Amino acid sequence: MSADASAAQQRRSARASGGSGAPAALLSPTLVREFARRLLAWHPMHGRSDLPWQGSRDPYRVWLSEIMLQQTQVVTVVGYFHRFVDRFPTVQHLAAAPLDEVLGLWSGLGYYSRARNLHRCAVEVVERFGQFPPTAEQLQSLPGIGPSTAAAIASFCFSERAAILDGNVKRVLARVLAFEADVGAGAGQRQLLAHAQQLLPTADRMPVYSQAIMDLGATVCLPRQPRCDVCPLASLCKARSQEQVTHYPVKSRKIKRSSLRLWLLWAVRGDGAVWLARRPESGIWGGLYCLPVYESSQALLQGLPERLRHSVQEQPAFMHALTHRDLHLHPVRLTVDARRDRLAQGQWFKPSELPDLGLPAPVRKLLTS
Ligand code: SF4
Repeated sequence: MSADASAAQQRRSARASGGSGAPAALLSPTLVREFARRLLAWHPMHGRSDLPWQGSRDPYRVWLSEIMLQQTQVVTVVGYFHRFVDRFPTVQHLAAAPLDEVLGLWSGLGYYSRARNLHRCAVEVVERFGQFPPTAEQLQSLPGIGPSTAAAIASFCFSERAAILDGNVKRVLARVLAFEADVGAGAGQRQLLAHAQQLLPTADRMPVYSQAIMDLGATVCLPRQPRCDVCPLASLCKARSQEQVTHYPVKSRKIKRSSLRLWLLWAVRGDGAVWLARRPESGIWGGLYCLPVYESSQALLQGLPERLRHSVQEQPAFMHALTHRDLHLHPVRLTVDARRDRLAQGQWFKPSELPDLGLPAPVRKLLTS
């Protein structure tokens, strides 16, 4: 392709990215010509092909995997994905299921707002469209589907020229382009998206291309020790030529790790039933059933009838790590005579009922230990 033709193609691509609202700086003609071509040539031999959602053009499976993979490792997601598609083989099955059943199956994957949005989204897909709609724009109007997930579904399943911009893809692009803006900030993301849009192949190659760039980020362009020696983009990569690979992607906003202490009232009845209360929709473990949670041991005691306060037994505390927070959990055990003793809001659940309930992972572990 001549330099003029290449520049014209870039201008067309930049116009196609119009939704980003960012001025799309022109990239070098060599990069535009070579980027997708090399990824497409690399993928058949070196890309991943063993994940259960790969190779599918079923938007339900692609959507489910994309939502599960947000903030969660592939190795953790695989088992959950199998269990979900076994129990809910289609979006219609998922929409018809009670939310509690969905939360129960999600239990342990964390970020429970994703599970609530998953269910809400399934209901909306069925009610508004009947099936998943085919364009990224329509997909983004659904709960829990952001621009990158919408682009993944639209490109994998409907061959739309929509650029994915998940964490792995951002890293590859930021390094190849030596992209200096903050990829965590809105302006930086819009600019990177406009560049990404210029590098896309033709529509018919979109499913393979999208998979290839995600796979390269996951297996070659690794966060700390990228394998530049086997990378098909090595000779195009500015970060590599500047020997500045781990400087990119630039993230100026660092999320600080915090910690939190919580006390859990572990009330048990003579027959082994435990007292659980549903958590508020927002905040930690939102919408799940849980042992009643208190911010101090005093608050826990004050929540009990006076004559029970001397019967509590503090159990060994343990730590549960969330992505950005360490939880220090203090279980406080209490054996209760259910005919006489009343507790605050909640209800009794027998041990046989626990497997189907949406419970926070550390609480499930505690109750089944
Ligand atoms: S050359 Fe290295 S830094 Fe550049 S894209 Fe490839 S793996 Fe990433």
